[in-house]
Amino acid sequence: MKQYILEMEEYANEHNVPIIEKDSIAYIMKYIKKNNVKSILEIGSAIGYSSILMASANPETVVTTIEKDEARYMECLKNVKKCNMENKVHVVFQDALDLNLDPNNKYDLIFIDAAKGQYMKFFEKYKYFLSDNGVIITDNLKFHGYVGKSEKIESKNLKGLVTKIENYIEFLKDNEEFDTKFFDLGDGLSFSTKKNASK
Ligand code: SAH
Ligand code: MG
Repeated sequence: MKQYILEMEEYANEHNVPIIEKDSIAYIMKYIKKNNVKSILEIGSAIGYSSILMASANPETVVTTIEKDEARYMECLKNVKKCNMENKVHVVFQDALDLNLDPNNKYDLIFIDAAKGQYMKFFEKYKYFLSDNGVIITDNLKFHGYVGKSEKIESKNLKGLVTKIENYIEFLKDNEEFDTKFFDLGDGLSFSTKKNASK
């Protein structure tokens, strides 16, 4: 499998696919092992890099991952198959904001890593699917160093996006239901747990 992971890193590099940074995924994999995470929901599969690595962290872990771009979805399926992970990684081809999951499904870990401007929507939609002691992890909170500097950005689109990430960070900090820890790892990572959780 290691060979395929390296090939995915090369592919991502060549095709500008924004896969998770190594220190971030290493930290998440450690969390999965330590907390015996069994079920994961990922929003934003891209080519399957983070889903395959998360699924490999613990023999019992199963990942459901959602991707709306068809080409990436196809690439993701190909990689899951190559790595013999068809039983552990289920790829759903849909826009995560349109998908209706079975409300009885609960996940120990929800990884938000899709469109950065929609983070708050993903969080509000999917928090109902988190198990009581579960965690919602969000990636790219630094957005390549732009976050916190939106006022100085000239490009309107970029400024809008960065402002949305800044607002999301404030939303997490002020949240009444969730406690959030921020980590200065990779492109910036947050871990949000329910305030009433037993651990
Ligand atoms: N988690 C991957 C990287 C994901 S990149 C990894 O670290 O390996 C973000 C992906 O989210 C892109 O492929 C993009 O097409 C997808 N995406 C963006 N908005 C989405 C949405 N609303 N629903 C599903 N996928 C979405
Ligand atoms: Mg990311």
